[in-house]
Amino acid sequence: MRRACKDVTERRKVIRQSQWKNMNDFESKVQEITRSCLKACDIGTLQVNVGFRCNHQCTHCHIQATPERTEMMDWATMQHVLDTARKIQPKLIDITGGAPELNPLLQRFVRSLRENRHNVQVRTNLTVLLQPTMETMMNFYRDTGVKLVASFPCYTKKNVDPVRGDGVFEKSIEALNSLNAIGYGSDPSLKLDLVYNPAGAFLPPEQSSLESDYRKELEANFGIVFNNLITLTNMPIGRFLQLLRQQNQYREYDRLLRESFNPKTLDGLMCRHQVEVGWDGTLYDCDFNLALQLPISCGAPSHITDFSLATHSSRRIVTGNHCFGCTAGYGSSCGGALAG
Ligand code: SF4
Ligand code: SF4
Repeated sequence: MRRACKDVTERRKVIRQSQWKNMNDFESKVQEITRSCLKACDIGTLQVNVGFRCNHQCTHCHIQATPERTEMMDWATMQHVLDTARKIQPKLIDITGGAPELNPLLQRFVRSLRENRHNVQVRTNLTVLLQPTMETMMNFYRDTGVKLVASFPCYTKKNVDPVRGDGVFEKSIEALNSLNAIGYGSDPSLKLDLVYNPAGAFLPPEQSSLESDYRKELEANFGIVFNNLITLTNMPIGRFLQLLRQQNQYREYDRLLRESFNPKTLDGLMCRHQVEVGWDGTLYDCDFNLALQLPISCGAPSHITDFSLATHSSRRIVTGNHCFGCTAGYGSSCGGALAG
């Protein structure tokens, strides 16, 4: 009897080892802790990347956006998103880019989503709102009740301009002042969150204490108010990976992310609670997998035209070693830190 039990244990060990053979290090880590692969739990958020064009070329940009990028979501794909959203009724439609405002169909898309009573948030880089062609955009956001999530990597010029470009800090302050003037950050129906990401190869500090610093500094120096601060970890992909390699910091940063693995972040990983639609309708687990061109797979359809709530809400997540960026320290997601 004892011999039989030992055989079963041995067999399970061999099966597990063979299952783990083809896994990346992140997947092995998840298996080691949960005895399972990473799977989606629900689809609370439908994230939509409407294009890679941006007025900036930030050094940490995972999507490698530039003013010259031409990838842009068309109306046919937006209609598929509208149909899917109508069917699955997600809690949130989260629109990202590039700079979403540079897609000329953005206002039509947002208006249609709001007519269908969806909660909509747009990720804005702030400065794009000051461009000559964007005079109507802030009022459009206000009138349609869109929540704004604004990237603003620090409350000091010395940490913003080297990452985003000369003069970006002042322009961001100007845009924030204008948004405050129309009610963003103070009117309960006009939420304004800010996004911090580190200026280099280190992890974000604890979110709530940094939020207090932001609040104090922005209010005292510029009279700016906002709702919440979201902290994001820089992913070692895209332009930030190039920078790490140029500065010979990749190995060190990769080690930092792996050594800071925090199992408490696993439940909240954004890929487990969302699906992302890329500009051409391809489906991804998250914006980082979109940047790496790793569509949803493992038996779940990879295009919006074949979306299935039952299949996608329990799909296996496509992972890679970049995923250690989401589980390091306090954790990182489009909604901020994952573990206190
Ligand atoms: S990080 Fe944001 S603002 Fe900067 S280039 Fe990328 S998309 Fe544009
Ligand atoms: S990078 Fe994407 S797939 Fe990987 S853990 Fe983060 S959210 Fe999930």
